[in-house]
Amino acid sequence: MSTLVVKFGGTSVATTERIMHVAKRIQREKQNGYDIVVVVSAMGKTTDQLVDMAHEISESPSKREMDVLLTTGEQVTISLLSIALHKLGIEAKSFTGWQAGIVTEHVPSNARIENIKPKAVNDALKAGEVAVVAGFQGIDDEGNITTLGRGGSDTTAVAIASALNAERCDIYTDVDGVYTSDPRFVKGARKLKELSYDEMLELANLGAGVLHPRSVEVAKNHNIPMSVRSSYEDVEGTILKEEIEVEKDLVVRGVAFEPDIIRLTVYYKEAYNGSLANIFTTLAKNHVNVDIIVQTIIQGTQPSVSFSVKKENLQDTLQVLSEHKDILGYDHIDYEGELAKVSIVGSGMVSNPGVAASMFDRLYREGIPVKMVSTSEIKVSVVVPQEDMLKAANALHEEFGLSLKEKVAQ
Ligand code: ADP
Ligand code: ASP
Ligand code: MG
Repeated sequence: MSTLVVKFGGTSVATTERIMHVAKRIQREKQNGYDIVVVVSAMGKTTDQLVDMAHEISESPSKREMDVLLTTGEQVTISLLSIALHKLGIEAKSFTGWQAGIVTEHVPSNARIENIKPKAVNDALKAGEVAVVAGFQGIDDEGNITTLGRGGSDTTAVAIASALNAERCDIYTDVDGVYTSDPRFVKGARKLKELSYDEMLELANLGAGVLHPRSVEVAKNHNIPMSVRSSYEDVEGTILKEEIEVEKDLVVRGVAFEPDIIRLTVYYKEAYNGSLANIFTTLAKNHVNVDIIVQTIIQGTQPSVSFSVKKENLQDTLQVLSEHKDILGYDHIDYEGELAKVSIVGSGMVSNPGVAASMFDRLYREGIPVKMVSTSEIKVSVVVPQEDMLKAANALHEEFGLSLKEKVAQ
């Protein structure tokens, strides 16, 4: 029998009523003849509430204990959903991440899955049961509970689909697919029928919160058919796959944005060749993710390296830099906050010159200053003041023809 992995996010399981609705949805898929694994998130805003509770007690709670705390959210949902399935007469069994054999690296709060030993889940499927697995969690090789980073249940679902050789992985959520931009904030955003893994990976990495970036990475690496669809309405969603037909006139396929970006600048007394290697090796070793990098060595000015980090990583970044000041050999550091990143993405960009120029031109006409730029074959990102983020996203969405009614996104 073919296996189907389905995943339901926080809003989709926010109340017991919604959990009952999810159980009925699973019942329909089961009647279609599939073996079913369901991955679920914590109910509604539970994870945020747990984070807030910890911060009521401490400004910097232990990451290990945060993982123990946050994984309780998903554990509530797996048991309630199993109970809901039993109520419909469907045999079902719940599994925490560790019971499902999800082994991760030893990185609290943002671990990658290293491997999955799905025997227990497989046994449940063989016995005709629906396996209900907690998203976002695993265990490292020292026996610590770990989490996969916010939004990580998507990755649990795709990784399980890969481990079980599933036919498909369907991500059910509160939107009915992937849109040209976040429909909550961008006027005229429209649903895309198909999207390539690469485009989706860029969009997700650049802030489109609809999917956890690593889930797309796993789907691409293991060629797992994946879709994003509505948990409320029975309508077609967006299909993600390797190759898609792109209309020539839709060079840009999506606009993504991400608030809370910090630009850090490290100043040196004099230029020396090892500075870039030293600083970024040190940050990487300490698990600090750095994004856009700009080095400035101009005669008459103090040599410097600027890079962007997420606001949530600022304290860790500053700490790592100050702990290694001696070997890094810098003079001083400053940083600018209240920034955001806005990006345009599309695989057609590689063969269409002038896209970045049109982007800068439109931002200039809107009076939006560009603080940093980064490009790849399929995206251009700019760092702008946070107060201009949505204005920039809406303007670029319109500039590249994504908002036009008469054009149908494919
Ligand atoms: P879940 O709890 O189901 O995991 P998320 O909140 O993580 O749901 O993701 C769904 C949300 O992603 C939508 O409500 C939407 O506001 C946001 N989103 C951001 N970018 C996009 C996009 N390009 N297309 C669709 N939704 C997007
Ligand atoms: N509950 C976790 C979060 O809110 C994981 C997830 O929903 O995917 O980030
Ligand atoms: Mg999500």
